[in-house]
Parts: sequence; C-alpha cells; structure tokens
Amino acid sequence: CGIVGYIGHRDAYPVIIKGLQRLEYRGYDSAGVTLFDGEDIHLAKTKGKVEDLKSKVETSIPTNGKLGLGHTRWATHGIPNDVNSHPHYSNSGDLVIIHNGIIENYESIKQALIKRGYTFESDTDTEVLVNLIEEVKNKEDVKLGKAVQIALNQVVGAYAIAVFDKNKPDEIVVAKLGSPLAIGIGENEYFIASDASPFIEFTNNAVYLEDEEMAIVRIGKEIKLRKIKDDAIA
Ligand code: GLU
Repeated sequence: CGIVGYIGHRDAYPVIIKGLQRLEYRGYDSAGVTLFDGEDIHLAKTKGKVEDLKSKVETSIPTNGKLGLGHTRWATHGIPNDVNSHPHYSNSGDLVIIHNGIIENYESIKQALIKRGYTFESDTDTEVLVNLIEEVKNKEDVKLGKAVQIALNQVVGAYAIAVFDKNKPDEIVVAKLGSPLAIGIGENEYFIASDASPFIEFTNNAVYLEDEEMAIVRIGKEIKLRKIKDDAIA
C-alpha cells in the first residue's frame, strides 16, 4: 500500500505512475490515480497491478493535470475490486482522498452519515472519512485543512491521507498517524509519498510527518505543519 501526490508545474501523471511503481514493494491488490486539470477531476482505478492501471488510464482519461494523487491499495474494508480502489470522492464530487491504513470506527460514522443523507458507492472505510470531512467542512463552514483536522479528531485508527478540494486546486492536505508520509519540496512544486523514493530524482529536500501531524501543502506557500489535536488551526 502506498500513496503518491503531486502539485506544481509538471504534468502530475508521469510522476505519479512512476512513483507508484517504486512503491510496489510495499504490496497491494489494486491501484488508482486522479488527475485534476484545473476544471475537471479525472479518475481511473482498477484491481490489479500498476501496469494494469497504466493501460486503463492511457485508454480512458486525459493525462494532463498539474495536480494528481495515486494510490496502491491493500484492502482492509471491502474486497479488492475497481469500486473499492482509491481514490474516493465525497458525495458532492468536490473532495478526493487517498488513504493507507484503517479507520476502526468507520461503521458508526457511516451509519450516522447515512441518517443525514449521505450515500456510499464502496465498502471502504476511506469513503466514510472523505464524506465526514465534507460534512464537517459544510456544517462548520471551515477551510479544508480545518475540516480534515476536526474529522480526524472523530476518527479512531491509522492513516496516511492526502485530500484535495476541486474548488482549491492549489492545495493538498495531508495527515499521518501510523502509516508513513513524506513531503518532497521542490521549486514551486510539492511531492507527497509513503517514502522518498517517488520524488528522490526531483528533490532531496524532504519533510517526514510525525504521527498525529498534518500539513497544508499549497503552491507558492511554505508547508504549514500542524498537530492534529491542536485546535488553533485557522
Ligand atoms: N482501509 C483502506 C481500504 O481498505 C485502505 C487500505 C490501504 O492501506 O491500502 O480501502
């Protein structure tokens, strides 16, 4: 299981697909990628190998986009199939998430969200988390970073996540507890990955998140590191 993300001036796709290949050693049963071209989110995911994902992407979606997320999944909740593969959308279609790890209390959160009108396509714990983030964001009327922080304080489990909002295409929010997460810092570009191998050829300036740490990664800005339990985040 692995995660890769890119935001910057390059096409994200080649960075992400190569990065996923470098993370294959971590083991996985499915793979997926999302690319955002500034207007539309394009998503392809499949059970199988990164090589299968590559064929699917290249025959089904445009491969431009300067923001992208990629994922290799080791299924914990929901069988390995295309639908359960990551990335996952929120109900509005605005938020996209990739996640390694387990949300242990996902079932009670899911039932509560269903009562409040949310629907689910997959059997994953991850789709529950992205919708919880969306609900918090709308209800509390806060920015994505704050919504992620509030949501993660309601969650029991382990995670490395990366999430972005279609309406804020210059930003990716990441967080870590238990699973690894590194951020590579380039010139006007950022890389996100489970370890440095996907971005080592582009930069040797890396930040490794600590457990219970999150970061707001925004183009043209320094990375903002925050404690998930700290409520001072704006
Ligand atoms: N728990 C998530 C799922 O089953 C993520 C698994 C992983 O770490 O790849 O989809």
